[in-house]
Amino acid sequence: MSKHVFTKPFTQQESIPEAGIERAVEIMRSGRLHRYNLAGDEASEASCLEREYAIWQGADYCLACSSGGYAIQLALRVCGVVPGDKVLANAYTLAPVPGAIHNVGAVPVLVDIDENYHIDCDDLDAKAKVSGAKVLLLSHMRGHIADMDRVVEICNAYNICLIEDCAHTMGAKWRGIRSGNFGTVATFSTQTYKHMNSGEGGFLTTNDPEIAARAVVSSGSYMLYGRHGAIPAEEVFQKIRLHSPNYSGRMDQMRAAMLRAQLPEIEKNLARWNLLYDKLHARLSSMEGVTIPRRKQAEEYVGSSIQFRAEVVAKQSIPAFVAACAARGVELKWFGDDEPKAFTSRYDSWRYIDDIPVLPTTLKVLEKTLDMRVPLTFTEADCALIADIIEDEMKQFTQ
Ligand SMILES: *Cc1c(COP(=O)(O)O)cnc(C)c1O
Repeated sequence: MSKHVFTKPFTQQESIPEAGIERAVEIMRSGRLHRYNLAGDEASEASCLEREYAIWQGADYCLACSSGGYAIQLALRVCGVVPGDKVLANAYTLAPVPGAIHNVGAVPVLVDIDENYHIDCDDLDAKAKVSGAKVLLLSHMRGHIADMDRVVEICNAYNICLIEDCAHTMGAKWRGIRSGNFGTVATFSTQTYKHMNSGEGGFLTTNDPEIAARAVVSSGSYMLYGRHGAIPAEEVFQKIRLHSPNYSGRMDQMRAAMLRAQLPEIEKNLARWNLLYDKLHARLSSMEGVTIPRRKQAEEYVGSSIQFRAEVVAKQSIPAFVAACAARGVELKWFGDDEPKAFTSRYDSWRYIDDIPVLPTTLKVLEKTLDMRVPLTFTEADCALIADIIEDEMKQFTQ
């Protein structure tokens, strides 16, 4: 029997909705691409987007900016982080997270994770106590949402400001509350591989008027902050506007137009992602020797990627297993690799951090963790074929 091969690319997103393309072309024709470059009483795409996103997210204030990583470093700054400060962060995340902490001159205090890819709340509590950190940058990595009641309780106990990195949880919920509404500030990415796609882009949301005003002015609004869409009252700006440095990182009208066309589709798309995810989850979790992290009841996830542990494959055989799947068109990323590859790296490869800790559970869990993107250009039948290939190849590498 010939071996089935999967031929679709794992990096192929859907096209931008027609309305967004048309509007982007109009903007290009007008030449007015900058968010403050408006003719007469023309509405700004960027500020309309901010208003619409704030309403959908359920936050009082929203800033659209140049990237998710930019939103994170701005969030750290407006929450008062200064050079030399310590910032708590879960160790299972992607490089822009420690990078943002480094960008503001702060020092990451990496926290271990548990078997289900969540921040280890006991380690968080211990490190909150001894580190003196006043900020937790919690990355809901690959959409796995920790017990947010416990996380918030720990933050409150030590007077720690919680920043949520929702790059993978745009639209996900915990106890019916949207991810990003648990801390002081939340950040989102609209980079191509996330839940909305403008190539590059990001959001910062908050309910704190002063933090919102600082973020808007520091994003590079000059004294045109009044042209933003979801902002606090003028008196708040009066207080902070001359004390907020301009860290230029605005969103432009083209990206805003593309995102405005996607926002009305997002709920439908989240449901489509979960159909694909649930299909893969059912197949993979039924395979001998495969572990898939348990989701908590309270979590409403968005399955835009899937993680599983190939427990039956020896660590030294994982590269060959990944290569065998790749040869049949199935692209798996290995989070346990000593050598960082593509978008994936393990925390101990971030060598610019002094005193990288040994985090036993993170290392153990990532050692066998494989990660797969699930773009919306896939169908349920595609997911079945992908699962067949993984199952088939795993048999060759079972120890
Ligand atoms: C993508 C991503 C970011 C950064 O977003 P960019 O828009 O690419 O700067 C931050 N955190 C996580 C977990 C991400 O996956």
